[in-house]
Amino acid sequence: MVTLFPEFVEQVVKVGIPRKAVDCGALEFRARDLRNYSDCADRRVDDRPYGGGPGMVMEPGPLADAIAAAKTAIGVEGKVIAMSPQGLPMTQALVRQLAAEPALVLVCGRYEGLDERVTPLIDFEVSLGDFVLSGGELAAMVLVDAVARLLPGVLGHEGSAQADSFSDGLLDHPHYTRPPLWRDAAVPDVLLSGDHAKIARWRLKQALGATFLKRPDLLEKLQISRTHAELLREFLAEASGEKN
Ligand code: SAH
Repeated sequence: MVTLFPEFVEQVVKVGIPRKAVDCGALEFRARDLRNYSDCADRRVDDRPYGGGPGMVMEPGPLADAIAAAKTAIGVEGKVIAMSPQGLPMTQALVRQLAAEPALVLVCGRYEGLDERVTPLIDFEVSLGDFVLSGGELAAMVLVDAVARLLPGVLGHEGSAQADSFSDGLLDHPHYTRPPLWRDAAVPDVLLSGDHAKIARWRLKQALGATFLKRPDLLEKLQISRTHAELLREFLAEASGEKN
């Protein structure tokens, strides 16, 4: 990762799943301080914009040198990604694609962004969403987290990433743990039945229902099968029955 804040971005691999990914050798993470590539004695890497206007622009020289150094250090073909509000939206499909890459060089912008002339050094841009952050670091850390949990051997249960929201275009089904009865709310009987086929059917029905209620835009994008349509109808009938 190329950044002005190496100590900050390193935090992403200090806890939880990304840390586990590093510990088990599935992920190698290195933060490269852009200031080490400055040509100035004061380690400056930004300058005023040509044409005037507010803010500063990141100079192309240090960025090019830092990206080149990162690529050399990696030793394998790695995609160079600039974090940017103008980039491809970060979706689970994109994260899955990136998790399959042998290496990634993530470039974090600050100020008004990068000098446009570094564009040929960038394979593509990735955005965290339609809002503007003050720097690319948080977006890049989010990407590292999302990729780390998909790397082989990282999640305790191999199936758990497959069941997560967005993996099959649907949101995840609800989850329950002990106690079986809590504040008058019982765990659905089917989950205690031990009947795995029934449980799978119930979970798919709930996933379809949750997606329909919370993110109908996702369902519109899916070619939903007859069985799925039937399950969704069942979900809606049960939901309206509960209200009456
Ligand atoms: N002037 C730019 C925004 C610069 S914000 C524009 O309007 O397009 C400074 C830096 O924060 C960017 O270079 C980028 O690296 C990062 N950044 C801001 N918003 C982001 C987002 N939604 N996703 C990813 N990175 C973002």
